[in-house]
This record gives sequence, C-alpha cells and structure tokens, in this order.
Amino acid sequence: MPTRTSVFAPRRRKVRVLATLGPASRTPEMIATLFKAGADAFRVNMSHGQHDDHALAIATIRGLEKRFGRPTTILADLQGPKLRVGTFAEGLVSLKTGALFRLDRDPAPGDDQRVCLPHREIFEALEAGTRLLLDDGKLVLRVQSVDGGEIVTRVEVGGALSNHKGVNVPDVVVPLPALTAKDRADLAFALEQEVDWIALSFVQRPDDVADARRLIGGRAALLSKIEKPAAIDRLEEIVELSDAVMVARGDLGVELPPEQVPPLQKRIVETARRLGRPVVVATQMLESMIKSPSPTRAEVSDVATAIYDGADAIMLSAESAAGDWPEEAVAMMDRIACSVESDPAYKARLHFTETHPDATTADALAAAAAHIAETVSATAIICFTTSGSTARRVARERPGVPLLVLTPDQRTARRLGLLWGAHAVHTRDVADFEEMVAKSKRMALRAGVARGGDAVVLMAGVPFGTPGATNVVHVARLSGDELKAYKSED
Ligand code: PEP
Repeated sequence: MPTRTSVFAPRRRKVRVLATLGPASRTPEMIATLFKAGADAFRVNMSHGQHDDHALAIATIRGLEKRFGRPTTILADLQGPKLRVGTFAEGLVSLKTGALFRLDRDPAPGDDQRVCLPHREIFEALEAGTRLLLDDGKLVLRVQSVDGGEIVTRVEVGGALSNHKGVNVPDVVVPLPALTAKDRADLAFALEQEVDWIALSFVQRPDDVADARRLIGGRAALLSKIEKPAAIDRLEEIVELSDAVMVARGDLGVELPPEQVPPLQKRIVETARRLGRPVVVATQMLESMIKSPSPTRAEVSDVATAIYDGADAIMLSAESAAGDWPEEAVAMMDRIACSVESDPAYKARLHFTETHPDATTADALAAAAAHIAETVSATAIICFTTSGSTARRVARERPGVPLLVLTPDQRTARRLGLLWGAHAVHTRDVADFEEMVAKSKRMALRAGVARGGDAVVLMAGVPFGTPGATNVVHVARLSGDELKAYKSED
C-alpha cells in the first residue's frame, strides 16, 4: 500500500493503447519507451517466446509501474486450440489447384500427396464439403471424404505449404477444449506471474469461457477473443460471460471473408459497449509500420474508425512486437486518438451506440453522474471502487470528462488499463464522507483534472469499504484556498 499516493497525469485521450511485446520490444529500455510513447497496457503473446522472456518483460513492466507511479496492465494471450499441419520431408511443398491431398495421423514427414494433421478430434468433426483453410487462408482444401484416420481433400486454391502452418476450419464447431495442454501450462505460468488479464483464443462456445473462468478462479480477468464464426453465433452470451472481448480480426478474417469483418467489428463493439464490457480492436491496425516509419492513410483511417465507434482499446500486434518502428507505432496510435477525440463530431458519434442503464442502482447512479458532470460543467468524475465495477458502468456512459478511479485494490487498478477513459489510482480507502470529499479534491489536483473553482462529481458506496454498494453521487467544488493549500504541500 503506498504511503503518499503518487498520481501520474492522465493520458490526453480516452481510448487505451495495448502494445504487444516481442523480440523488437522486450528490453527494459524499449518497454519504458513504449510506455512513455503512450502504451497503457502490454500483451505478452504465449504463442511465441519462452516463459523466461515473458517473465523478464513482466518484471520490467512492474518496475516501470513503481517508477512512474501508475498502474500498468499486463494481458497474457493464450494460444488456444490452433490447428497446425505436421512437417514435410523437404520442409516445403507446392500443392497444385485441382489435385487431391490427404491429411492423416501418420507423424512421418509429408510430401505433395499427404501430411500429418496431429489433432485426432478434428477427424470426427469433418465431413464431405467442409473447407480447410491453410496458412491464414492462402490455400483452400475441400473435404471429399473422411475415412477413419484419413481425410481426402481436393485443393481448391493451391500454393506453397511449409512445416507447422495453421489450419482454420470455419464451417464446423471444432470439438476441442478451449484450453490445450500448452494453454494450461501457460495459464499456470501467467497466474504465477500475477498478470492482470488472460486472453482466451478461438472461443467457440459460452462453455469455453465458463471453463476457463473456473480454472482462472478470479486470479485474473478474462478476455475472450472473437475470431470464430461459432462465437459470432453466440456473441451476446459470450460477451456477457467475459470481462472484456477482442475483435481478433486476424483469424476472424481468415475464418470469414474479409469483407464480413468490418460489419462484425461494428456489431462486436456495439454489443460489448451495450453490455458494459471493454472491447479491444486488434490486428493489422498499422501493419505497414512493421517496415515503415509512417503508416498508410487507410491504416490511419482504420484506427480512427475504431475510436469513433467507441472501442475501449486499440491494439498493436507485430508492429510493436517484431517491427522496425515500435515506438513510432505507439506514438502514431496516440496521435490518431488525440486527433479523433478532439474532433467536435467525436462525441456525437460515440453516442450513436445507445447504452440504456440496466435497472440497478449502480447503473442509475453512473448515468446520473455523467449527466450531472455535463450539466454543472464538472471537470472530472471521481469514483471510489473496490472491484472496478462502478468505474465500468461510468465508462459505459462515455462521459466527456476525465474519469479518475480511486481503488484500494491494486489488482483492480491494474485491470482498469483496458477500460475507456479510466485513470486508475491505487490508494488507501476512505473511512467517512468528509475524508472522501477531501481525498477526491486532493487527487483531482494531483492528477491535474481540476483547479480552484472547478466542480468534480464523486461516486462512492456508503458504508465505505463495502464492495458493490455504490449509492452516493456528490458534487464537490474546489476553492482557491484548497488549491493554495495543496500547492504549499509540495
Ligand atoms: C487475431 O487473430 O487477430 C489475434 C489477435 O490473435 P493472434 O495475434 O494471437 O493471432
């Protein structure tokens, strides 16, 4: 628990930036650089790298948190049940369009006639007519017949195929558990490292989320990646069961034709916002910046669209993990966000998505706080919360002023790094109403979100320290004397 709470100034934007770490960005210097350039949260991708590399990156991020006095969010992304072909004797084959090609369970290296598909369960799920997409959809096979241990396919789109390339099966619900043996080992590691979020890949059914949640047992929050057509079919239930979701456009755009991704992105963002779950838009956002110091105009526009739609967070993948310009990519995200959010039309567009309050006290108060802030021209909403739930309901309203979230729970403070507009501060709880008001004013001054004469809207639960009991909204006005007194403290 901190003695004198340090408060970093909020970012100048509401949307959060999530940067994937990898070989280009795992050094302590580069992580600090990305943080300063605007990264609010970091993704460690368990599909790549070793546990030792991830542990080092996580320790660096926690070190930065202390140095900058600001909670920082870590998301561990589990690989999930990604299907892959085995190996080839020559490492690489060329499949001819129109030819027959077999997938079997024989681990012997393959050739241009056959290869091993080391996933027993898939043989039972496939039937004649099902498509198999290989290497991110570059090759397409159509199943002709399945006979026990052998799948005979016809090559509809041929090309080069090399060892361990990915296999997508968009037409069926694959009878695989959401967590493979590797995922379970990675999950145990990530929880031991006390990461804040676990991302679940290739979620297909609500049960996948429920199973993972049982395993995580409250030790981290759970984000479901939406990248399978089956997950789209049960979107509402999956979002409801998750703490956050990601529009994982990479695999989504392989499993479905790419032109279906933009409407689905809108639908996923809208559903998550309506249900009050943070939503991350991910993949290829600034793809050309892997190699180039500046993005294409179309990429800038894509990032801007996600922000106008009201996504909570935007993500960099290879741009920050393996690209030549990780710092520039984060800075570019930051600049696009600042530009969009200063557009007078941004606010109106944000509210195209209607988020009617649920019939709960917390929602009624969250909506009221946002209205009051607007009506009295308050400069901030300050929210006392233990679990973070009140902050999520306020953020759902997309208020126009900064949202300062004061929490005695460090895990909550860290988890809030994916939430639109939330500026979390880990600090001691208050004991009574007077202390709440005095502390709010001090924190608002320290964070630079209010000055003498400004009003701030406070939200809390009385009795203090009782989770889930938000029942107070209060307007406090800072006096010039309080400002002077605060300045003389420092
Ligand atoms: C995606 O497919 O868009 C995604 C985010 O997942 P990954 O980067 O793990 O492939």
